[in-house]
Amino acid sequence: MSLLRKALLAGSTNPWLRERATNTAFVRRSVARFMPGEQIDDALRAAAALKPQGITTILTKLGENLTGVDEAEQVTRHYLDVLDRVEASGLDAHISIKPTQLGLDLDRALCERNLDRLIERADALGNFVWIDMESSPYVDRTLELYRRSRAKTARVGIALQAYLYRTEKDVESLVPLGAAIRIVKGAYLEPSDVAFPKKADVDANYFKLCTRLLAPDAGKPGALLHIATHDIPLADRLAAYIHDHRVPASAYEFAMLYGIQRGQQVRLAGEGRRLRVLISYGEYWFPWYMRRLAERPANMWFVVRTMFG
Ligand SMILES: Cc1cc2nc3c(=O)[nH]c(=O)nc-3n(C[C@H](O)[C@H](O)[C@H](O)COP(=O)(O)OP(=O)(O)OC[C@H]3O[C@@H](n4cnc5c(N)ncnc54)[C@H](O)[C@@H]3O)c2cc1C
Repeated sequence: MSLLRKALLAGSTNPWLRERATNTAFVRRSVARFMPGEQIDDALRAAAALKPQGITTILTKLGENLTGVDEAEQVTRHYLDVLDRVEASGLDAHISIKPTQLGLDLDRALCERNLDRLIERADALGNFVWIDMESSPYVDRTLELYRRSRAKTARVGIALQAYLYRTEKDVESLVPLGAAIRIVKGAYLEPSDVAFPKKADVDANYFKLCTRLLAPDAGKPGALLHIATHDIPLADRLAAYIHDHRVPASAYEFAMLYGIQRGQQVRLAGEGRRLRVLISYGEYWFPWYMRRLAERPANMWFVVRTMFG
């Protein structure tokens, strides 16, 4: 892992830096590339603008590691409202939540209750809730939340990270459930005893995990694979695999983040690939933004150019 990437990921959790950066005009301007705005209205407008291009969406309010149970209640109510607003708008837009936003660090039972409220509403509306995967100390608890939710509805999915050694086993344990799984490479700073340090190994594991989830015996009711990557050669290799193995279109979707590889997003949707774009919004964007910079240190040049107008 490059030094710059390590520094950006370490900076993402630094409160002093967060305080200063979020009040700096050029940083705020450069964030706009990845985020249509801080409010849900901005995200819904962006989702509506993608719809004519055949691109569906996932909405996520930025925020993690809350300090009080009131905040977890606010976040839960916010997402309940989002589900209602999506229904009223006629958009095909899922929601994606972080367990720590629903109170996992504060009170696990509270987090479970909050998640139950969201999956019940999503189920009633025919919508879908994705559970993000945070850093490695949260993986077991997040899997338990998922299994518990999956026992209640198929309208819930979980993100798993290809950089973790353990993910292959986790995938295998979820296959019998008919799980909806979003495979991502992984966005956090992880030690080499839990995660592959080399990108080539992460990419190889990504392909392996996805092909496992596309195998015929993984095609249980409720199973769905989200191929969530901007790595176009990797996505194209998987598309070729899907074609060669005649995987049904209902078994997978491609997924990307708003503002990244925009040209490719339009191309993929134009070719008829099912593509879902995750749109982030909210005021607490600093750690998330630093992770986006770390994914592609060349983005730092974009920040520098923004600084000089
Ligand atoms: C829909 C979705 C949901 C996600 N959910 C989670 C989650 O729950 N937990 C988690 O840990 N991670 C999550 N991630 C982030 C993920 O783990 C990676 O950090 C991120 O997607 C970058 O990896 P990549 O697969 O795009 O491949 P990379 O090999 O990192 O990138 C491939 C190419 O994509 C382009 N690219 C990638 N990132 C950027 C960027 N920030 N800016 C500009 N260009 C870029 C570059 O051209 C790069 O060469 C999610 C990603 C997506 C798309």
